[in-house]
Amino acid sequence: MAKKENVLIVSLACSQCGRHNYHTRKNRQTMRQKLSLRKYCRWCRKHTEHKEV
Ligand SMILES: [Zn+2]
Repeated sequence: MAKKENVLIVSLACSQCGRHNYHTRKNRQTMRQKLSLRKYCRWCRKHTEHKEV
């Protein structure tokens, strides 16, 4: 069995409206800091900062 315990499913929420728009997988060992990505928010209709929740 693969080492599933090191991979987390995280939600990415828009920093402007707070909606959860994306899900991503994150490796606990390589990505210890909070994720923060610029992605398109369809509610704000623009690219905003999306943060891990
Ligand atoms: Zn938004």
